[in-house]
Amino acid sequence: MKRNPHFSQLSKNYLFQNIWERVQDFLQKNPQAQLINLGVGDTTEPLPELIAGAMGRYADALGTPAGYRGYGEGQGRGELRNAIATRLYHNRIDSDEIFISDGAKSAIGRLQVLFQPGLTVAVQDPTYPVPVESSIMNGHRLIFLPCTPENDFWPTEFPQADLIYICSPHNPTGTAATKKQLKKLVDLAKRQKSLLIFDTAYASYIQESDIPRSIYEIEGADEVAIELGSFSKFAGFTGVRLGWTIVPKKLTFSDGASLYDDYRRANATLFNGASNISEAGGLACLSEEGLEATQLLLDYYMANTAILFDALTATGHSVYGGVNAPYLWVHFPEQDSWSAFDELLQKTHLMTTPGVGFGPAGEGFLRFSAYGHQTQISEAAQRLTEHFGNK
Ligand code: PLP
Repeated sequence: MKRNPHFSQLSKNYLFQNIWERVQDFLQKNPQAQLINLGVGDTTEPLPELIAGAMGRYADALGTPAGYRGYGEGQGRGELRNAIATRLYHNRIDSDEIFISDGAKSAIGRLQVLFQPGLTVAVQDPTYPVPVESSIMNGHRLIFLPCTPENDFWPTEFPQADLIYICSPHNPTGTAATKKQLKKLVDLAKRQKSLLIFDTAYASYIQESDIPRSIYEIEGADEVAIELGSFSKFAGFTGVRLGWTIVPKKLTFSDGASLYDDYRRANATLFNGASNISEAGGLACLSEEGLEATQLLLDYYMANTAILFDALTATGHSVYGGVNAPYLWVHFPEQDSWSAFDELLQKTHLMTTPGVGFGPAGEGFLRFSAYGHQTQISEAAQRLTEHFGNK
């Protein structure tokens, strides 16, 4: 059996497995440590009753002759696609162009079957590891576009690439692309005949008015962009699993074939749809009351972000992000990322994420996630103040 040769270019573990190994080792040596996790970026707060209840009722009904459902529509429940199109996209896109997924991570992986191996893929550096690693697995060539404080975390230039993966608001820096930046990017993608893959996993955290929540707010983007969405951070569905992929019908390959047709074909073969219980939860999220309830959760995490932002800024560190996303990107100028990570773990029992794990331009940074119970976040802020002092 021949191995996929590209796997030899991957590190042994996914980033967060490496971090957990270090943390487990630390906890074994320090069993009394009260670890606070500002690392992985997983939601912590219970789902609103209205949403959990909708899934509970759906699950109960599955145990009755009238309520039982088997396979659903592979593209996802029509009602849910309509709700996404109207409530989140204000009918900028058609519900036919929405494919419900079990989350954006696996959707990124599924997209890969559309493309021939050996393409050039441009990614922000640092970036969410999945587009990078799934591109490596499929034999594509990567171009890293540094995003640093010097260029306001937006690539200075975009060289010719077949695919450009952009995440806004951006994991890990917590910064976000402006309308002007995205307009230029869409124009460039048209000129250079690149396909954009736009990841909006954190769109619901956007506070500023000139930050688009969707690439389709930019005119002409439906000719060049696929968009990924997720209920994970928007509604606390990291464990429930639900997302969506938008593939506009206007997208074509260089030979004129329809990208939508191929995606629909691939999706029908490779995926049998998200869980119908998750879809019931997703529908509840998008009701008027559901949106109000999820907003309270988003506000809660952004209040956490402000607590950490203030504490870290007071210590004299340069702190970025945190306005349109619940992540803070903090510079440790005298250290590399892993030594800053180790110092915080050993001295304050705080777990963060080393910036270099997201790409070479992340060296010297740590990502702080603001997901957590507020009491723990306040405790983390206090430990930071005690450790670094106020400057
Ligand atoms: N995209 C980005 C930028 C993320 O940070 C994450 C999760 O952390 C995902 C996608 C994956 O989301 P999902 O839980 O929908 O698979």
